[in-house]
Amino acid sequence: MLPIIRDEALSRLEAFLPHAGGDYAKRRNYDYGAGAHDHVSRLSPALRRRTITEDEVIKKTLGAHSFARAEKFIQEVFWRTYWKGWLEMRPSLWADYQAVIKAGFAPTKGLEEALEGRTGIACFDAWHKELCETNYLHNHARMWFASIWIHTLGLPWQAGADLFMRHLADGCPASNTLGWRWVAGLQTRGKAYGARADNIAQFTNGRFEPYGELQEDVAAIDGPENPPAMALRAPRAATGDKPLLVLTPEDCDAVSLPLHAKPVGVVSLPRGLLVGNRAKAVLAADEAAMADGLARAQAHFGIETYNGLSVGGLSVNDWQADLRALMASRGADHIVMAFQPTGAWHDCLKDCDLPIAEILRPYDALCWPHAKKGFFPFKEKIPQFLSAL
Ligand SMILES: Cc1cc2nc3c(=O)[nH]c(=O)nc-3n(C[C@H](O)[C@H](O)[C@H](O)COP(=O)(O)OP(=O)(O)OC[C@H]3O[C@@H](n4cnc5c(N)ncnc54)[C@H](O)[C@@H]3O)c2cc1C
Repeated sequence: MLPIIRDEALSRLEAFLPHAGGDYAKRRNYDYGAGAHDHVSRLSPALRRRTITEDEVIKKTLGAHSFARAEKFIQEVFWRTYWKGWLEMRPSLWADYQAVIKAGFAPTKGLEEALEGRTGIACFDAWHKELCETNYLHNHARMWFASIWIHTLGLPWQAGADLFMRHLADGCPASNTLGWRWVAGLQTRGKAYGARADNIAQFTNGRFEPYGELQEDVAAIDGPENPPAMALRAPRAATGDKPLLVLTPEDCDAVSLPLHAKPVGVVSLPRGLLVGNRAKAVLAADEAAMADGLARAQAHFGIETYNGLSVGGLSVNDWQADLRALMASRGADHIVMAFQPTGAWHDCLKDCDLPIAEILRPYDALCWPHAKKGFFPFKEKIPQFLSAL
C-alpha cells in the first residue's frame, strides 16, 4: 500500500529507515516488480502532498544514519526540492506543456497502443499495467518507460507525461514534467536518456530482456532553449489577524506551517475543481490527504473544519462565493494557505481576488533559490542546507 496520510507516511518511514543507508545505495536502482519495492521508500505520494515533509524525512534519516551512509537517499529527496525550485523559476514550461495537453494529440501511429499498454514490448506493457493498477512505478522503470515512449516509439513526450499524471499517486508538475523533459534531452540540452536492453535486464534481475526491441542510440529531440531563470514568485500577501486556513493537496500539513496567527477555521478546496481525467485512486489519495490534514488542523488548533470535499462544503461552481460567505460567518479577515507552487492548483487560484496570504516554508525559501542551474551545483549545497536546517 502506498503511504498517503500522515500516519501511513510515518509508519512507512520508520520501516524504511534501516534501509536508507548502505542498502539504499546498493539496491535503489533495482526494479524488482510490483509489490517488491520495499528497498525504496515509496514515500513520494505523501511527500508530494506534504503529509510528510522533505525536511522531516531528512532529519529522521540523519537520526538513524550518518550523512555519509545516507547520502544517496538524502540526495534523492533533494531532487524533488531541486525540480520544484527549477520549475518555479521557469513557470512558462508548465504553461507550454499544459497548452499542448489541452490542444490534444493528432492521431499518431502507435499512440493508442502505447496509451493502452499493448505495444508488444513486454517490459513497457508490464510497466503500463503496473502504473495503472498500482499508481506507482520505480524510478528506473519511469526512466525506461519514458525513454521507450519517446525514442523507440517516437511519441510526443507530453502525451506520456500526461499518462503518468493521470495514474501516478505522486503525480507532480515539477518532477514529472522535468523528468520527461530530461529523458527527451530537452532539460540537459542535447543529452537524452536511452533505455538499454542490458541495463534493463541487469536492473530487473532478468525479468525483462528486450534485446533488439529498443532504439538505444538516441538523439535529443528538438525544442527551444530553456528559458532563463526568473525571480521566484513572491508569496501572495494579505494581512489581518483572523485567517481562515485553506488546504489544497499541494500541502496538507498545516500543523507544521509557520502561520502568523491562529486560524478561525479550516476548509479544503473542493477536489472536484481539478478532477480532470485522473484515475479514481489518485483522486481518492487527494481526498484522503486533505481529510487527514483537516482533521489534524482541527485537533491542533482547536477549530472547526468545513470539509470542502463533502456535501454541505464548498461547491465546485461557487467556491469563491462560498469561501467569502464562510469568511464572513467566521469573522475571518483573510485566507491563509501554503504557498501554491507552479502547477494546477496555482493555476486554479491565481486569478481569484480573494484576500490570500501564502506561507512559503522556510525549507523551500532556503533551497529553491539555488535551483537556478543544474543539479550538480545544487547538490554541492546540500551540506549547507543541512546545517541551516
Ligand atoms: C519520467 C519521470 C517521471 C517522474 N514523475 C514523477 C512524479 O510525477 N512525481 C514524483 O514524485 N516523482 C516523479 N519522478 C521521480 C521519481 O521517479 C519518484 O519520485 C520516485 O520513483 C518515487 O519513489 P520513491 O518514493 O520510492 O523514491 P525513493 O527512491 O525512495 O526516493 C525518496 C524520495 O526522493 C524523491 N526522489 C527520488 N528520485 C527522484 C527523482 N528522480 N526526481 C525527483 N524526486 C525524486 C522523491 O520525493 C522520493 O519519494 C519521475 C521520474 C521520471 C524519470
